[in-house]
Amino acid sequence: MSALMAPPRIRPSAVIPGPDAGIPARAPEMAGPGPAMTVAPGPVPALRGRVQAGAKLAPFTWFRVGGPAEWLVRPADAEDLVALLAGLPAATPLTVLGAASNLIIRDGGLPGVVLRLGGAFGAVEVESDGVIAGAAALDAVVAQHAAQAGLAGLEFLSGVPGSIGGAVAMNAGAYGTEVKDVLDWAEVTTAAGLQRLPAADFAFAYRHAALPPRGVVVRARFRAAPGEPAAIAARMADIRASREAAQPVRARTGGSTFKNPPGAKAWELIDAAGCRGLVLGGAQVSEKHCNFLLNTGTATAAELEALGEEVRARVLARSGIALEWEIRRIGLPHNSPAPVAGGWTHCVQRMGVEQPAAGTTIPTPALPRTAGEGEVA
Ligand SMILES: Cc1cc2nc3c(=O)[nH]c(=O)nc-3n(C[C@H](O)[C@H](O)[C@H](O)COP(=O)(O)OP(=O)(O)OC[C@H]3O[C@@H](n4cnc5c(N)ncnc54)[C@H](O)[C@@H]3O)c2cc1C
Repeated sequence: MSALMAPPRIRPSAVIPGPDAGIPARAPEMAGPGPAMTVAPGPVPALRGRVQAGAKLAPFTWFRVGGPAEWLVRPADAEDLVALLAGLPAATPLTVLGAASNLIIRDGGLPGVVLRLGGAFGAVEVESDGVIAGAAALDAVVAQHAAQAGLAGLEFLSGVPGSIGGAVAMNAGAYGTEVKDVLDWAEVTTAAGLQRLPAADFAFAYRHAALPPRGVVVRARFRAAPGEPAAIAARMADIRASREAAQPVRARTGGSTFKNPPGAKAWELIDAAGCRGLVLGGAQVSEKHCNFLLNTGTATAAELEALGEEVRARVLARSGIALEWEIRRIGLPHNSPAPVAGGWTHCVQRMGVEQPAAGTTIPTPALPRTAGEGEVA
């Protein structure tokens, strides 16, 4: 597709990438690491970590779209996070971001507190029969640690571009294994403090975990078994190659847009409905994997969401099946009030789904059929 702009780089860092390298802030940092500061006005309790008003979020997301955070908060460590959650008024919206690889943040941004966990939450510890990883550690890094220690069973994480917090929250999975199959426990912080919860407490389902209300995953333990290092490395190489072949992994995307309905594959339904390559403004249904949406360079969140809704409508009309979003769409639409820190009018406007103009279907040539995440067609 010629309109594709330079894709985002696959980030090499071991944890969710640092916050604002090169990102102009809308407002100065309210507090930096160091002595606690009281932030006023606003709902954010005093912290040792960083609190930024009106911070841009789009650069953090895989899609590179979305409006700012009213307050972007990066707690210094687990203790700071506990203090934040305990002191945050219950009415203040709270959103946790991982690597933002499964999110469309709407153009009007996120009200309240947006939480990002940094390096203090990124430790990875290898044990004889498992790995304990901080929520900010990237899944691929955890898979790499396990492989280097000769532990098998976590190879599937090497193909999921999110963080461990997001993997637990989404019950991420690929190639026949999901988080629920390997999770031993996860530690979750709420206003009441830190709890270690066994896997059974998360009521895992397909791309779903039941976290406690306003719960933030901070650490998790995954079971793994001693294995043959060469076989583990070969499996991870297979996963990488298979993804490169089947998915637009270097594009501005959010992975699988819709869940596979029971007994069906979302991409097959989308393809049969003629949506492969469909374009709306700067948003496009991937030609390589038609359950992936792309930001071809200038897309807004509204365009991506409206294109997804158009796909849903066409699939429903063709097959009678209502696809369910796997990508989480969060935040306020673009015509919301400006996100002035502390002065946000909580907007209840509903997202108006824009209809694509007539004639937006791009006829696509016969392409090799691709599969869903971790599936080989
Ligand atoms: C190219 C590509 C390929 C993908 N392939 C796969 C795949 O094979 N399998 C798969 O399952 N997914 C896949 N995805 C989707 C995505 O990577 C996963 O859903 C991933 O687990 C999301 O993690 P994240 O850290 O990016 O979470 P985010 O996208 O940042 O957040 C997702 C959800 O998790 C919540 N969350 C994040 N961190 C925490 C935390 N610490 N505590 C509580 N809640 C939290 C967020 O609030 C949000 O609701 C793919 C995405 C892309 C872009």
